[in-house]
Amino acid sequence: MTSQTKEIIQASLDALLDDKTFLPDLQGEMRKQAFTSLTAILSTPNHVHKSFLRITLKDGGVVRMPSFRVQHNNSLGPYKGGIRFHESVNEEEVINLASLMTLKNALHDVPFGGGKGGIVLNPRDYSVTELYLIAKKYVQYFSEVIGPDKDIPAPDVGSGEREMDWMMAEYKSIRPGEPYRGSFTGKSVINGGSLGRREATGKGVYFTFKYMLYDFLQEQKTLLSKTDNIFAETLLDHAGRPLTMAVQGFGNVGSVAALEAYHCEKVQNKVVGVSDRNVTLFNPSGLDIPALIHFTEKNKGDLPTTNEQLATCGVDAEIRAREAVLTLDVDVLLLAALEDQIHQNNMEQIKAKMIVEGANAPVTKEADKFLSDKGVIIIPDILANAGGVIVSYLEWLQGRETQFYTEEEVYKLLFDKMQNTMEMILPQFFGDPFPLRQNCYIHSVMKLSTVLYTQGKLW
Ligand code: GLU
Repeated sequence: MTSQTKEIIQASLDALLDDKTFLPDLQGEMRKQAFTSLTAILSTPNHVHKSFLRITLKDGGVVRMPSFRVQHNNSLGPYKGGIRFHESVNEEEVINLASLMTLKNALHDVPFGGGKGGIVLNPRDYSVTELYLIAKKYVQYFSEVIGPDKDIPAPDVGSGEREMDWMMAEYKSIRPGEPYRGSFTGKSVINGGSLGRREATGKGVYFTFKYMLYDFLQEQKTLLSKTDNIFAETLLDHAGRPLTMAVQGFGNVGSVAALEAYHCEKVQNKVVGVSDRNVTLFNPSGLDIPALIHFTEKNKGDLPTTNEQLATCGVDAEIRAREAVLTLDVDVLLLAALEDQIHQNNMEQIKAKMIVEGANAPVTKEADKFLSDKGVIIIPDILANAGGVIVSYLEWLQGRETQFYTEEEVYKLLFDKMQNTMEMILPQFFGDPFPLRQNCYIHSVMKLSTVLYTQGKLW
């Protein structure tokens, strides 16, 4: 677990320990002991399962790739979280991501615990048949510890509907006669997936931004003007000009959020920069997002990297280096790639006044402090990017009931849930000494602590 997550969990527990109105039955020595137990429970995972996944390649060679399933905490329900297919996956990262899932589900009142999986590989290096074997092997290795009421994996970076369909089918054949629909979420609709699941994270990320800025900050104008937030004025009264936005990452989260921004009538904003693993594309008058999405769909997910390619899709943009997206002179920066993207070495060059964390842990501890102290409003990962797991929950429910919701119903349930969380968390944003991330953590930690205490798990 990175120290950022551990430290914020600890700071939340310290604040709660001092707040004698929280768990008032626990006083004196017992209280101290219970909080020591809470630190131990929340800062370490329940289980770390790991294995070297072995497959024979098309040309006959054998590869062994480290693979993980981390089960952080299940006091609120079965473990839940994606499986990352990426070459940089490592044990510490998966543990951290699993703990963020526990906090995310607690924050949004999703009745799941937190888990995460990972396989160390670059999916682009393998054929479809090899990826199929890898996905099946993963389920064979971990089939004892996963299941609809135990631990429910889902897509994450590098995996999607295709992998979830394969994995569910493998789970079904390993455990004949047992319920299997809820063993994986993020499946294709024809295999029991939910309408809207694919777009859920990106739509949810944009929803939190829109809600924060227009339904909350605009309403709180007077309050905000009393704080010394140097950016409030630009964010709220952008003097008739659209707010500019840059999006790092153009995958399942970034491209959907960028498209939401492109189409949103309520918010006057335009996406002037997008990036992926190869390039940043920039146009101060706004980028044609639908045309870029159309291009990526035909080019293995990659954005155009040359002027010729830009011309073929009719997009007017300047090509810049991949990292350039982070330091563009924009109002809002939406991070939808990997963790640790804004760090000590680039934090001083960030010009955005608001950062929305579509990815998990994209801002390091040092950068988080530096930017928050400067007045940058950061909408943290566990608040902003929960759309995926919320609709995963709806998928799991629909699988149990074999009753399926329309896309409209799914989005209504998703936005209602995210709005409930925002309404609960945001008002504390001004009245409290802590930044938004800490408020979210405190809320989650309170919920988990109460559950653990009432279940008799603290002594
Ligand atoms: N991988 C996504 C996340 O980080 C979704 C997890 C899920 O649907 O279980 O939130």
